[in-house]
Amino acid sequence: MKVFKFGGASVKDADGVRNLVSIVRGFDEQLVIVVSAMGKTTNALEVLTRNYFNGNKEGMTLNFNQLKHFHFEIFKDLFSGHVNPPNHEIEAIFEQFESRLGHLPSLDYDFEYDQIVSFGEILSTKIISLYLNSTSIANQWMDIRHCLRTDATWREGNIDWSLSTGLVRSYFNFEKNRIYLTQGFIGATMTDQTTTLGREGSDYSAAIIANMLDAESVTIWKDVPGIMNADPNKFATTQKLDMLSYREAVEMTYYGAKVIHPKTMKPLVEKDIPLYVRSFLEPYQEGSVICRIDHIMNYVPVFISKEDLILVTISPIDFSFIAEESISKIYKLFASHRIKVDLVQQSAMNFSVAFDRPERGFDQLISELKKKFVVHYNEGLELMTIRYYNDEVISQMTHNRTVFVTQRTRTTVRFLMK
Ligand code: ASP
Ligand code: MG
Repeated sequence: MKVFKFGGASVKDADGVRNLVSIVRGFDEQLVIVVSAMGKTTNALEVLTRNYFNGNKEGMTLNFNQLKHFHFEIFKDLFSGHVNPPNHEIEAIFEQFESRLGHLPSLDYDFEYDQIVSFGEILSTKIISLYLNSTSIANQWMDIRHCLRTDATWREGNIDWSLSTGLVRSYFNFEKNRIYLTQGFIGATMTDQTTTLGREGSDYSAAIIANMLDAESVTIWKDVPGIMNADPNKFATTQKLDMLSYREAVEMTYYGAKVIHPKTMKPLVEKDIPLYVRSFLEPYQEGSVICRIDHIMNYVPVFISKEDLILVTISPIDFSFIAEESISKIYKLFASHRIKVDLVQQSAMNFSVAFDRPERGFDQLISELKKKFVVHYNEGLELMTIRYYNDEVISQMTHNRTVFVTQRTRTTVRFLMK
């Protein structure tokens, strides 16, 4: 049994869905296919959620109609020429969606977010499942919320592993079906409230399901030929890494490589399940594999860039040192704002932290810090991480740049720069 994951970019239009079908047609084993929301749907749903929560009815209605139009255009294209296209199934989801938006939101933004944003995955999987069935690739659509149970940490649900494993095994039993099609990114609490697992979380969903079903492998179908040593959108020449260890992949995602969700590896390592990253544009090519490798590998330099970071420098008001106690207070504050720290530098009088600008509450964070510390910050910085660096690539990358922070280990160097 294999697990496939198709991201939003692979199903951004009707041609993308047809391409998915042709890929799936090439396999005759048991499959669980995990799919994200179509194209940029999740971003659009985030905008809609904000409008809903802030009481901007006009904006919300506009967002809703656009999403409906977008999905129905794809649906119509796929089912053009069909005598009885199953419109009602998609209509029903939009009706449910609309009725949700007809109620006033609660006071919990993150809760509302999960209830709304999850419609992206429900819609994409329903459309694709119906279409696959119409092309005589029989498959069972599965609402993963019956199986993947989480706590009530909205937008970052934590999986209840023992409960979910039993449920996943009983629902995905392959007794009557060879292919299951289901959602990435979403789950539900014990009381059936929808949760999400964090942005780009479908990779993680695929890994969880693979772990629970003891899959032979996971394949993530992407718009790149495999795992590259740098982002092809930013670098003129890039190289594919044919084979990586789990450890290397964890390190790369930790430093901000977006190719796979950082949580994906752990469920796979546990069961020794290899992860293939392959191109949905060139499905006959080999791609990359992440697997257990015990010997030392020689990797080419790997470049990971994160843009638009903020560097906050915190110093004591009096002449006291920044010590354990104040640092733990600072970290608590960061955690309460759900900030993921990318880099930390500490000296006697300064504590500097770099992170992504949070969606909400940055000004509030700064004013809370200013109650106890002197605070400065710089915005719009790039954090460049180079694994397996050499002098030449360092000078290429830092040429004509203002470097704010440098950190270096034997394998990795990082520059925070303007
Ligand atoms: N649709 C979700 C997102 O865009 C999950 C995913 O794509 O993995 O974040
Ligand atoms: Mg996506």
